[in-house]
Amino acid sequence: MDHTPEHIAASVAAASGSGILPPRRLSAPRWRVALAAAVLGCGLFGLSTPSPAGTDVAPAAHAPSPATTAQPVVAHDLLLAGDAQRTRLVVDLNRAVEVRTFTLADPYRVVVDLTDTVFAMSGEAGPQRRGLVSAYRYGVFAAGKARMVLDATGPVRIDKAFVLDPVDDQPARLVVDLVPTDAETFRRTVARATAAAQATTAAPAPETATDARPVIVLDPGHGGIDSGTTGYSRFAEKNIVLEAALTLRDKLEKTGHYRVVLTRSTDTFIALGERVRIARKNRAALFISLHADALARNDGQARGASVYTLSDTASDADAAHLAEQENKADLIAGVDLSDEPDEVAGILVDLAQRETRSFSAHFARDLVQELKRTVRTHRTPLKSAGFRVLRAHDVPSVLVELGYMSSAEDLKQLTSSEWRDRVTDAMAGAVDAFFATRAGGPWRAARAEQRPAN
Ligand SMILES: [Zn+2]
Repeated sequence: MDHTPEHIAASVAAASGSGILPPRRLSAPRWRVALAAAVLGCGLFGLSTPSPAGTDVAPAAHAPSPATTAQPVVAHDLLLAGDAQRTRLVVDLNRAVEVRTFTLADPYRVVVDLTDTVFAMSGEAGPQRRGLVSAYRYGVFAAGKARMVLDATGPVRIDKAFVLDPVDDQPARLVVDLVPTDAETFRRTVARATAAAQATTAAPAPETATDARPVIVLDPGHGGIDSGTTGYSRFAEKNIVLEAALTLRDKLEKTGHYRVVLTRSTDTFIALGERVRIARKNRAALFISLHADALARNDGQARGASVYTLSDTASDADAAHLAEQENKADLIAGVDLSDEPDEVAGILVDLAQRETRSFSAHFARDLVQELKRTVRTHRTPLKSAGFRVLRAHDVPSVLVELGYMSSAEDLKQLTSSEWRDRVTDAMAGAVDAFFATRAGGPWRAARAEQRPAN
């Protein structure tokens, strides 16, 4: 793609995930899937061993402890969406809350613990089963401890669990995504997560026969007739970023935790839209576009790596477009919207966009931290811009400018295998960090880190 000169490239990215929302009111009563009577009391959950050290309990991740406030969080609506390929639970909250999720066997259940929450569900009667969930119940089982229990139709995996802060007229929302797995993987996941909990380290992504590993799409910019920039050197950006992408692919594949797809692995031209399509078609959990920058000859000096996320205005326009054009004719974040009422589709589209933005921002921050430790970064390394390859509305995406080909010092590094080894180490480290916390909600964790200490 063309590179915008640095001085007009972008503002520094806002670190928080506020902002993008389709102009759609989402709290219409029609979408409320309703709830059967709230079941109160621990005994009614049929859980005898809620301890994380128990053999049948698998914490998905380690959420930071929240600073509790006097007023409990109120959960006021609940929605089940999706199908047997992916079932999404959405709970509306009056403000964000820390959650912890884990699975239980015999029978298969998913447990969602919410800190200091009360249930005041306002929905009317409606279906209580959907996709992988055959029933659910919720209640307060101890002081400050609220729990939801979802009965699963079979062995399931918690693919994601996170909480989005309220924005504009949208409430805070808890999202839990379930995907099917097999009994053996379920059992191994439980055992590994239990062991991990005891060792207080995060569980690695499970590897299964059906390859449930997250897909990472690496996108070396340019290619073929499009050489990218040269920075007035004898080198071409397209070759530098391809080398980096191939090195990063090898490192990620070596972990065994990911499936890696390249938008190009040779010197070929790929249109920008096609790069986004490759990410969406593969249901990528992360998209990383690799570029190198250059300043015009008399534009001064700049050095170091930068990480871009999609700018607010670009994503607003995209959200509006999506709401009009693609709303129900598409899978959003893997959930089929074609059978959903408009209101439900609106909620799911909104969630996918908020989620994508949050995850993108989280990964971008992690990546900048890793890069700062390892290589030279630009003086404002975290930025946002309307790059077209970042516009997949349901794939967390970042664009990395590895450095400036217009800088003699940077160019020396960009073309050195030793430097390439270091920069891809940093990137692989950031990817590992991102996926190690994803199931438990990297976004919440990131917010907790940002909060000033009380
Ligand atoms: Zn480029």
